[in-house]
Amino acid sequence: MVPENPTGDSKLYRAATADFDFDNPGEALSGLLKLAVDLLPAQRAALYEFDELQPGFTPRYVHGISLSELGHLGSAIEHPVLKESITKRSAASTDNTHSSLGLPLAPGVVACAPCIASGKIVGIIFIAKDAGEHFDEDTLATINILASRAAEILTFAKQTANQIYLFHRLTLLYQASHAITGIRDREEAIKQLVTHLLKATSADRCDVLVMEDGEVQAMRFDQQLQHSNIQTIVSKVVETIPDYPIHHQVLRDLRPATVSLVPPKGSSRDIAILQEEGISSATIFPLATGNEAHGFVRLLYLEPGRQILDQEMELAQAIVNIGAIGIQDAISLEKAEDRASQLQVLAEIGREMTSTLDLEVALENTMHHTQQIMQCEACVLFLLDESGEKLILKASGGRQMRIRDVAIRLEEGIAGWVARNRQPLIVNDVRTNPLYHSAIDSQTGLLTSSVLCVPLDTRGESLGVIEAINHPRGAFTGSDQQMLNSVASWAAIALDNANLFERVADERSRLETTLVETADAVVLTDRSGRIILVNQAAGQAFRINADLAKGRLATEIFINHPLGDLLMDEDVSLPTTMEVTTPADRVLWTTISEVTDVGRVAVMQDITALKQIDRMRSQLLGTAAHDLKNPLNAIRLGADLLNDAELTGQQRKALQMMQRATDSMTNLITGLLETIRVETSTTLFLEECDIDEIIQMTIDDLKPLADAMKHEIIYEPPTETLVIKGEPNRLCSVVNNLLGNAIKFTDRGGRIEIGVEWDDERILVNVTDNGPGIPDDEIPRVFEHLFRGRVTVSDPNNPIDGTGLGLALSKTVIEQHGGRIWVTSEEGVGSTFYFTLPWEPIPKTGSLRPDD
Ligand code: ADP
Repeated sequence: MVPENPTGDSKLYRAATADFDFDNPGEALSGLLKLAVDLLPAQRAALYEFDELQPGFTPRYVHGISLSELGHLGSAIEHPVLKESITKRSAASTDNTHSSLGLPLAPGVVACAPCIASGKIVGIIFIAKDAGEHFDEDTLATINILASRAAEILTFAKQTANQIYLFHRLTLLYQASHAITGIRDREEAIKQLVTHLLKATSADRCDVLVMEDGEVQAMRFDQQLQHSNIQTIVSKVVETIPDYPIHHQVLRDLRPATVSLVPPKGSSRDIAILQEEGISSATIFPLATGNEAHGFVRLLYLEPGRQILDQEMELAQAIVNIGAIGIQDAISLEKAEDRASQLQVLAEIGREMTSTLDLEVALENTMHHTQQIMQCEACVLFLLDESGEKLILKASGGRQMRIRDVAIRLEEGIAGWVARNRQPLIVNDVRTNPLYHSAIDSQTGLLTSSVLCVPLDTRGESLGVIEAINHPRGAFTGSDQQMLNSVASWAAIALDNANLFERVADERSRLETTLVETADAVVLTDRSGRIILVNQAAGQAFRINADLAKGRLATEIFINHPLGDLLMDEDVSLPTTMEVTTPADRVLWTTISEVTDVGRVAVMQDITALKQIDRMRSQLLGTAAHDLKNPLNAIRLGADLLNDAELTGQQRKALQMMQRATDSMTNLITGLLETIRVETSTTLFLEECDIDEIIQMTIDDLKPLADAMKHEIIYEPPTETLVIKGEPNRLCSVVNNLLGNAIKFTDRGGRIEIGVEWDDERILVNVTDNGPGIPDDEIPRVFEHLFRGRVTVSDPNNPIDGTGLGLALSKTVIEQHGGRIWVTSEEGVGSTFYFTLPWEPIPKTGSLRPDD
């Protein structure tokens, strides 16, 4: 309890030590005023607080008087006592000279003291008593104490209020950021932003405008429960925002701006639109991340005179900033998701295109998928017809889109334009577009409102177009175009591939038909010698099941038959020809050649009939030759008898010419007879032949000729005895022919080498000279009957003798033994003739496995 009239000391002591509840500043300050009135004593007390919004001091707490009786104290302080107290920063009281009139709490004796905290006057305390002496020094000292304690409480309260406000702001910001970030849907992100803005400010409405890829999305939101503390629920009301000039300024400056009717603020155009909209004020915040504006947010106040509060500005901008990032993230996520699902669909389309051989099915499925991912009403694919004048609807996806072959002319419609110009086109309102051609709608049964059309091109050639019809939300965008372009690329590739495939398949089947149905026997192998194809004729000729043969090695199919080697032997120089005999004794003229990137092919013509005619001709020739031989012998004999006769020089010359001519005719006839004999007798009389012996014998026979020409013959006998099964006479004649040719065609002093190599399968003999060589054009002909090369007449005065039958005969003999003979030669360098002989002659008839 406070004593009636405390002494100065105790007054001071009580003022200084009294306890106040700082947590409750209102009560503390009211308590302080009550203490003042009790202590001093006085009847009324008031505490004015410094006002930041309205310059001066505003009454906040009172005792013994009502707040409504007190008014604001302007910053221009007139009353001398108040002036003195403020200047001296100490308590002062009215006295006899100064009436209390003009001071708060007047009339009566009024004392006042500034409440000073950190050197600043935060308030003024007024104490008044109705009558009596003015307040003495002790009392003023007590008032000073009370004033400073009031200052303490005021400051503390203010700090607390700031902290609470700060806390409130932080909470709002935290809630906003929590609610906005990580949202995957942009509309939801926008809605959350608006919700938190309306919660944090006193605005009535909120507009949001988001720009993305040149597309503008605008929305206006109202609070559903007007400024409810418990919950803020917003609802979208309109989707358009008038174009205020201030919007552009905000987007440019990236700084918020306000337009209002009362007090008038903003350009006349802005204010006029505001008035039209029935809005009292609007504050526009840029919606920006970094230095880039993605749109803006507007806070709208409807009641006249109301507008955003200063302290709301900062908080609102902070929430808008969070919103900007949140919306941007949502857009990116949306895009990423779009992209991901687009990629998935594209992958699906790609698979479709490559796995389905039926192009129409693939295109149909693609249109179906595209329509689903784009969520448009339909997706159609037009292809240019062969004339290039019409677009034909080939595939479509979407409800009720089962129509086919609708045709439009190239000059018509949006599709026509895109196909002609080969540029994509978005028409979001077809009714206002002159390109739109409604006739197509009547054919497709669709009511077109928006169209996205992209060209279908391949290697600079227009194939057609793809159209997406009727966007779900009205407008096709750049990213839709991107998507459809990707689909178009896939479709173009598929169309291209399909054409190619068709062409290749066509060609292949044509080739296959030719190969399969041709009368010639054909065997095709891959590079490893595995059978790719045995055509009908070959199958029949060799009694092979073509299907079973496929994929097996040629040597497994043509066992002990030269064809197997010819198709597989790496050493065989191609192309090569030879006669082969089938199990049914047909003679096939076989050409083996290389097929680039495939392997080898053997094409065999049945020459059995020709062979028969040939045999008949040989028999005829044989008989004629035989019949010629006797008279020729008689002539030669007669001529020889004339040798001893006495003849003139001219007569002797004529005689010698006659002798030479009969000799060469005899040689020719002998050669012909031998050739005919060898070629017509297919049976060999096999003996063991030592190849070294055959070679040595031949060298010995021809040594005198070689010596006469001063040739060096180099022969290194094989280190092993090489014995093969063959007919020695015939083999001798082969070596004789080769060595004889080397001797006679090589210029004097030549070098002739004979070599023998062997392996498990065969012997290889080569005869190499450093003679004139054989011209390229003659090489394929040297084994022909009666062929004689230019080298034989290189010296017209001294032609080289011969019949042109030697090599033909040699070839026949070697092939009869199951070997091969060939030549490599370079003009001016020399020639090498090779022949191979198997250890045992392979019968010319292809002997195939019985089960084949
Ligand atoms: P001929 O030797 O009787 O002329 P061949 O059948 O033995 O007949 O040879 C045919 C042709 O091949 C010869 O005329 C010649 O042009 C060419 N020839 C053969 N052997 C050689 C060789 N060693 N060097 C150059 N040319 C050759």
